[in-house]
Amino acid sequence: TSYGFREVPDGQKQGLVNQVFHKVAKRYDIMNDVMSMGMHRAWKDAMISALNPRKEPGYKVLDVAGGTGDIAFRIVEASGRQAHATVLDINGSMLGVGAERAEKKKLSGNLTFVEANAEELPFEAGSFDAYTIAFGIRNVPRIDVALSEAYRVLKRGGRLLVLEFSEVDMPLLDKIYDAWSFNAIPQFGKAITGDAEPYQYLVESIRKFPNQENFAAMIRQAGFSRVTFTNYTGGIAALHSGWKL
Ligand code: SAM
Repeated sequence: TSYGFREVPDGQKQGLVNQVFHKVAKRYDIMNDVMSMGMHRAWKDAMISALNPRKEPGYKVLDVAGGTGDIAFRIVEASGRQAHATVLDINGSMLGVGAERAEKKKLSGNLTFVEANAEELPFEAGSFDAYTIAFGIRNVPRIDVALSEAYRVLKRGGRLLVLEFSEVDMPLLDKIYDAWSFNAIPQFGKAITGDAEPYQYLVESIRKFPNQENFAAMIRQAGFSRVTFTNYTGGIAALHSGWKL
């Protein structure tokens, strides 16, 4: 389906994404609450419950596209401040906000911030017990490469969890959701950053992202076993899970 936005060639995609998150970094957390009407909090909490992090110091998690730290903070808290989380993001501005928040929450001792690309992780094979990515993978130009990298850096027995916008499977909700995302989100974006186009791109990227079944197939293709997904809020978001066995 075409929604009248200009097509973004793959080679330019990362640059545009970086521009968006550089601009919004300082207002990102508020924007998240506004644009998801607070729902992202419940989805993130559900993701952490699904992960059920071990409450022991050796437990190591990599949170990719970790941005301002929401997922990593929740994991460290849920582990009784035992786990270590590496927050990786391609955008230094987002990580900067994350590091400040971590200081305030007194969680810095359990966290490392790394500026890098999900397509090229600067870690040895078999380094982590879990790999998480929330609302990040649809921004990565080569999703298959990111998934292969996820597989590589996980230990045997390690867990992959991907939280992402997905295909709404409720008749009325899909209409409301379309109206919300195509009109309201770019307008909020414009009101807050002065520019609607990057947000149109982000909304478009949600439409282009593979649906639940197709994304599950990509995860299997990367080598993961026992791949499953759970819909949240009628499929507005979905959590995909896989294991490196
Ligand atoms: N995970 C956080 C959350 O749920 O609040 C942040 C999600 S934010 C919508 C998407 C993040 O993906 C941004 O911080 C952006 O910089 C990051 N990102 C985009 N492309 C990336 C890439 N190729 N590698 C790593 N991070 C990337």
